[in-house]
Amino acid sequence: LSSSRTLWDLLVRRADLTPDRPVLLQDERSLSFGALRARAERVAAGLYDMGVRPGTVVAWQLPTRIETALLSFALARLGAVQSPVIPFYRDREVGFALRESKAEFFAVPGVWRGFDHTEMARRLGAKGIFEAYGTLPDGDPAVLPPPPAEGTSVRWIYWTSGTTSDPKGVLHTDRSLIAGGSCLGHALRPTSADVGSIAFPYAHIGGPDYMVMVLLYGFPAVLFEQFAMPDALAGYRRHGVTIAGGSTAFYSMFLAEQRRQPDGGKAVPTLRLLAGGGAPKPPEVYHAVVREMGVQLTHGYGMTEVPMITMGAPDDTAENLATTEGRPPRGMEIRIVEGEVRLRGEAVCRGYLDPAQTAAAFDEDGFLRTGDLGRLTDSGHLVLTGRLKDVIIRKGENVSAKEIEDLLHRHPAVGDVAVIGLPDPERGERVCVVVEQPAGAGELTLEAVTSYLRGEGLSTHKLPEQLEVVDALPRNETLRKVLKYKLRERYSGRA
Ligand code: ATP
Ligand code: MG
Repeated sequence: LSSSRTLWDLLVRRADLTPDRPVLLQDERSLSFGALRARAERVAAGLYDMGVRPGTVVAWQLPTRIETALLSFALARLGAVQSPVIPFYRDREVGFALRESKAEFFAVPGVWRGFDHTEMARRLGAKGIFEAYGTLPDGDPAVLPPPPAEGTSVRWIYWTSGTTSDPKGVLHTDRSLIAGGSCLGHALRPTSADVGSIAFPYAHIGGPDYMVMVLLYGFPAVLFEQFAMPDALAGYRRHGVTIAGGSTAFYSMFLAEQRRQPDGGKAVPTLRLLAGGGAPKPPEVYHAVVREMGVQLTHGYGMTEVPMITMGAPDDTAENLATTEGRPPRGMEIRIVEGEVRLRGEAVCRGYLDPAQTAAAFDEDGFLRTGDLGRLTDSGHLVLTGRLKDVIIRKGENVSAKEIEDLLHRHPAVGDVAVIGLPDPERGERVCVVVEQPAGAGELTLEAVTSYLRGEGLSTHKLPEQLEVVDALPRNETLRKVLKYKLRERYSGRA
């Protein structure tokens, strides 16, 4: 199946193999592979009647629901270009996405979680607004042109998280997404007896990546429209989820639920594997999850441009799983140039919407510059050491934010931590530590932090000169990644 040329092709072949097996589970609802195919074709016909053609750009900002997957597959059936937008985004990001992608249609949920998306879409001057929550476009598949024959045209525009600058529009093809999803499958090796789950928004690039794996291996995934613990546990239990994940913050949420179990029983008895990625994972989290939850944990490295770069193999050593991002799958070439990770392979995006960004992003051999810093171990495992834009330059010396964060993660009065550089007239930049404390932790002072770091062997020129303690670090809604630019904005100019 992994040789399928297009996403639609892949769905058709899977639906022929196991039409009656469930593919998506949500609350009490369940959709089979056969029904996904048949219903997506009707939706495609409805979209066709509305004027959507192969190549038409259709943006959608929809919550994680079975209907959203149907609409996305319908667009894949038509060969339209779809641009998924995270449902929590508001005017700034949505306006940006609509303008940059020049979307001719925009699917919204209407009023969702008390917010009127239709009104926002009108205010932003969106074209072709339609609601796709309870009901979807519907039509007779007889009107449809043939499905796309090749998978190498740009059919997806995804948006980067905007952690380091404005979001970038990333161009993907069906083939690059299928390559990413098959890599994920090779790493996790699910069986048809597994029950997976998608905890992050379906509009994230991890959505189709996960769906490709689901189609290749023929197992179902549970969707959550409003992911929140402890309610989500009921969903995991009801459907007997065996593979869960998301990202580091999700592992910590699971761990917290596990610690709350009154009788010491397993929070989700069927769970065998936590698999996620997309954000740094302190080794302490790995060890606590494995020890206290009795499940395996594998974590991966990915980005909007390349949804799956490396992933820990569940049968790798605890040491490798705790301290590395795993190995690249076959077909993914990694090289490290001046500390930066560069990538080439079928899962790499075609480029960016902005041709100037594309030109700057690829080197002369066609490798994508990731902007991430890392090294490869002798065994070929990737260790990430930070982001290029996250290196603090203090008095002309490079200070790695990640090095300090890794040390502080081990401090008992530190729950989570972000280290940032702040503009400083004397030093160029000064090192500022922002700490989120666990409940009941004692007071933390700058003196205590620096003497701890000194004791851990951190060189004097890297010691922080500012400490901020916060209730909660600012995070994005998708993978709950820490938004350092917000911290820099907040603390710049404050000594
Ligand atoms: P922007 O490119 O707009 O600044 P972004 O890079 O944060 O935003 P994403 O594509 O969502 O947007 O995130 C990809 C980045 O997340 C990677 O380049 C890397 O810096 C980080 N990342 C992903 N996986 C991991 C991981 N396992 N460990 C550490 N960092 C990771
Ligand atoms: Mg990026």
